[in-house]
Amino acid sequence: MRVAEMNREALEAFAADCKKQYEAFQAQGLKLDMSRGKPSPKQLDLTNGITNCLSEDDYKAENGLDCRNYGCLDGLPEAKAFFAPMLGVKPEDVIVCGNSSLNIMYWAMSLAMTNGVMGSKPWGKYDKVKVLCPVPGYDRHFAVSEFLGMELVNVPMKEDGPDMDIVEKLVAEDDTIKAIWCVPMYSNPGGVVYSDAVVKRFAALKPKAKDFRIFWDNAYCVHHLVDNPPVQANLLEEAKKAGNEDICYMFASTSKITHPGSGIAVIAASQNNLAYLKKALGFSTIGYDKMNQLRHLRFFGGKFENLVEHMKKHKALIAPKFQIVESTLEQELADLDIANWSNPQGGYFISFNQKGCAKRIVSLCKEAGVVLTGAGASFPHGVDPEDENIRISPTFPTEEELQKAMDVFVCAAKLAAAEQALA
Ligand code: PLP
Repeated sequence: MRVAEMNREALEAFAADCKKQYEAFQAQGLKLDMSRGKPSPKQLDLTNGITNCLSEDDYKAENGLDCRNYGCLDGLPEAKAFFAPMLGVKPEDVIVCGNSSLNIMYWAMSLAMTNGVMGSKPWGKYDKVKVLCPVPGYDRHFAVSEFLGMELVNVPMKEDGPDMDIVEKLVAEDDTIKAIWCVPMYSNPGGVVYSDAVVKRFAALKPKAKDFRIFWDNAYCVHHLVDNPPVQANLLEEAKKAGNEDICYMFASTSKITHPGSGIAVIAASQNNLAYLKKALGFSTIGYDKMNQLRHLRFFGGKFENLVEHMKKHKALIAPKFQIVESTLEQELADLDIANWSNPQGGYFISFNQKGCAKRIVSLCKEAGVVLTGAGASFPHGVDPEDENIRISPTFPTEEELQKAMDVFVCAAKLAAAEQALA
């Protein structure tokens, strides 16, 4: 029965029942952490071979370069060729970096603040600089911009990507808007796949600020949960067609492919952007870890197809976990009609919405020993205007732990709905 249709008596009985169940969970002294989207130890084990796939005398790149030594700022040519298909670009459009894409996103944005983009006035020299933040979105993106002194502007997400009518209007009118954060494939946390129409509208954007950049974080581009994953138009290619190729920086990493602590991040952009970025990069490093580039190349036999196959092993481990979350939500909450949630085709998160109840649910879960990502985390400054969104991260716990955590979660969601209806 829908909660909205329950009379006071039925609501009170429902609330009492939820409370009883909740207290039983509390008595179990649970200690479960679902706060961040990390690969599980079993997923990490899939890549254990990478730690010893180089023999002692295997340290030369194809061109004879000694990878143990300094140099080769933008990455081994064969590493560029290996990663190019991941971002759907040409090898020459890629810089192969260190272990974290967040680190290079931070670096690229901070560089724009201090030195501008391609010779423009530094963003930080303007009285005000703004960044568009599709919401809900990735908390660390927003934190980077906030830390660098930018003003964060919410843009609503739709089923096929950010609301492009709003994006186009804002960037056309306001030259203090310098950037937008995008996770185009299986967005964090909504699991949204931007449609080709949205990608093309991004590619054709005509911002008033000539130094505007799209930060296109394709963190989950190969992280599919379905057999026939969606195929997406390529931003850089479309931007080239639109004569707008300098508008974007594209990022990805192997963090959730191999090992997050010791993976490889890449950036792709137009030749003009790359020339500027490489020049700046040369001031901060003499070169990234090329032995790690070699390790990744050897582990995957130098073939991107092998990386794609490897992702199927991740899928086999995590798809059942997404299933646990989705079926528990469906079984326990669908009839009550109190919430909605995503059923993503890939990525690392399920986005759950229950109006006015997110903080209460997170706190009830915490008091019953289940730690979730903080309510509001997916919004700039941690402020969710509707107090509705919770990011569920199913990958790290075991299936047993996850089921237990979800049992607590749905109980908390029901109790919060009952309290809200009775208030
Ligand atoms: N981008 C998104 C959208 C993420 O969700 C995450 C991690 O959760 C990252 C980037 C972090 O990437 P990296 O490990 O390459 O720094």
